[in-house]
Amino acid sequence: MDGYEVTGFFYNPNIEPREEYDRRQQVAANVCRIHGVAFIEGTYDNGDWQRCIAGLEREPEGGLRCHECFRFRLAAAAGCARDHGISHFTTTLTISPHKNAGVINNIGKTIAPQAFLMYNLKKEDGFKKANIFARDHGLYRQHYCGCRYSMANREAGTKGR
Ligand code: SF4
Repeated sequence: MDGYEVTGFFYNPNIEPREEYDRRQQVAANVCRIHGVAFIEGTYDNGDWQRCIAGLEREPEGGLRCHECFRFRLAAAAGCARDHGISHFTTTLTISPHKNAGVINNIGKTIAPQAFLMYNLKKEDGFKKANIFARDHGLYRQHYCGCRYSMANREAGTKGR
């Protein structure tokens, strides 16, 4: 991508239930395999994530709970990059039409001003292309963002991804 040698990092302790986490982890690992890039999986620590968003459980999707969730995961990505001698990192979070790329990029830049690369992957039909790639490779696509609150929204008919 843009001349970079890519390593995939999967860190999503926000995802519940565990079966859904495993399903998405498998997809991420498969995508890395298809593209011939290294894959690193972070620790699944849902308790830590719950502590991070404590007090924000009732926030709407896209609100402060999500900002903390982005911060938590991007900080882990920054740590992973440091630990592995990786000079720059970014996130696939911006591909979702339900997520504000400006918010995500600002958080990434705050965490790691030099190392974080700003992208908006939903541009130029990024989300549509990802769906086509998944269909062509028989990959599972998620039906809600990931946490128990977004799952409840999905069940209530107000889904986001
Ligand atoms: S809706 Fe998505 S981004 Fe927001 S807190 Fe839940 S998992 Fe994180």
